[in-house]
Amino acid sequence: MIHYSCDLCGKKIRNERYTVKVEIAPAVDPDELTPADLDVDHLQLIAEEISAMESTAEFALPETGPQQLQFDLCARCCHTYARSPLGRLSPTRPNFSHN
Ligand SMILES: [Zn+2]
Repeated sequence: MIHYSCDLCGKKIRNERYTVKVEIAPAVDPDELTPADLDVDHLQLIAEEISAMESTAEFALPETGPQQLQFDLCARCCHTYARSPLGRLSPTRPNFSHN
């Protein structure tokens, strides 16, 4: 049986487990493509990468695409995360009542 621990608080997740998937990708506006962008010879770049890998036997690929992250959270941390996905929730901020 696989045991998961919460990536935020570090505690073992006993009951409900939540996963948070985050994708970080550069925002590209297709209207901003220039002819120079289209001139890049991707096959040539890939061939150079492969030959570099063969010569060094290293598989450290450069960051090429979107970065995908996945976290396991316990129910409590998931609740906290959902309220503030970008970590802006300040614990010192006073609670204003809306009445
Ligand atoms: Zn947690």
